[in-house]
Amino acid sequence: AAHNSAVEAGRELNAYTVETPELALAAAEAADRAIAGGEELKPLAGIPLGIKDLFCTEGVESTAGSNILRGFHPQYESTVSAKLKAAGAGMLGKLNMDEFAMGSSNETSAWGNVVNPWRGKGNEALVPGGSSGGSSSAVAAKLCAGATGTDTGGSIRQPAAFTGICGIKPTYGRCSRWGIVSFASSLDQAGPMARTVTDCAILLGEMAGFDPKDSTSLDLPVPDFEAALTGDLQGKRVGIPKEYTIEGIPAEIADLWSRGAEMLKDAGAEIVEVSLPHTKYALPTYYIIAPAEASSNLARYDGVRYGLREAPEGGNLIDMYEATRSAGFGDEVKRRIMIGTYVLSAGYYDAYYLKAQKVRTLIQRDFDNAWADCDLLLAPTAPSAAFAAGDKLDDPIAMYLNDVFCVPASLAGLPAMSVPAGLNADGLPLGLQLIGKALDEEGVLNAGFALE
Ligand code: GLN
Repeated sequence: AAHNSAVEAGRELNAYTVETPELALAAAEAADRAIAGGEELKPLAGIPLGIKDLFCTEGVESTAGSNILRGFHPQYESTVSAKLKAAGAGMLGKLNMDEFAMGSSNETSAWGNVVNPWRGKGNEALVPGGSSGGSSSAVAAKLCAGATGTDTGGSIRQPAAFTGICGIKPTYGRCSRWGIVSFASSLDQAGPMARTVTDCAILLGEMAGFDPKDSTSLDLPVPDFEAALTGDLQGKRVGIPKEYTIEGIPAEIADLWSRGAEMLKDAGAEIVEVSLPHTKYALPTYYIIAPAEASSNLARYDGVRYGLREAPEGGNLIDMYEATRSAGFGDEVKRRIMIGTYVLSAGYYDAYYLKAQKVRTLIQRDFDNAWADCDLLLAPTAPSAAFAAGDKLDDPIAMYLNDVFCVPASLAGLPAMSVPAGLNADGLPLGLQLIGKALDEEGVLNAGFALE
């Protein structure tokens, strides 16, 4: 009975879309057999993981949080989830998420909101962050040992910060995108979410690696990330980007940031101020590029190839497209498709999309210049702790602003991690972000380890 009530309490978070305990059990039994047979154990033997619903999983419904993919049971497995499986892990289920990974609060899912296991001061329900909110909530509530997430503009880091866990977005190209439902292909990256930096290092080691099926996959060896965790930052220079001290940054976030800098100093790092002058353009740039790519990627949901089909009696092909897409997509996804098609349209392409691509290059160069003075950057993950459900739902701009510290590293393709860094006055977790040079996940993880 105690077990059942714990399961029911877990289910109230709505973190899972589909539960597959039989797959987790099979992995555990395989591990038991290996132990009994005296075989060498696989690196993740029997470890129960949750998989974000953006990953296609063979034979298991994969919806990307959208009604348009209801009933879609892929005949293939994403490279990342296949690698975790090959390393011995078992899948407990698919994790809820914002529809097509668009959102920062997990309130746009066709499967309903996800609840943060942390409660507000007045016991109010809080959002778990997004879009990987099922992953963050399930990991924080110990409903799985670790989870996959994806991060296009903060979707691993911000939910990790909101729930007091760790999450790393590796360098663009480290993890294969093959079999992950596309949102904005030049930004999308998979990464692990777990309760400790060490767990993230171990999981990332199994998820990363070259995949010929993803043309942007990096053909490089995967370092031993766990071995990099010494906690020693002797000789490292950590940059504090001065433009991130945006006007009106809440005092609790500014305090957290200086405490984090002190901790890194104690671990041997030198703290230096650096400048990323184009920071203020990152958010508008992201909210042009991401919807542009999304509008193109989402054109494939036509009612023919996947999931939902609405074909009105006596209607033609166009009627079917319209009916399917009207019924299948939620409001936020439609908003992005409209913005995306607008900025890509012949009349506005130069003014918006092309301009945004140029600014993206300037943002990348800001980071390149900063590396002349430092090895890593320290910043807050988000401008607030987890907010109440419903708080920003009617105000897309307020919702987008929550990504302000996350999107620059996404636009530059750099590895970035959120690590829990203490509680605010209301007893809610806050996260600090470490951003590294391209391919320096080891440096990022080690600095995270020093902060933890
Ligand atoms: N919150 C951002 C958005 O809505 C980032 C999402 C993500 O990283 N997938 O686009």
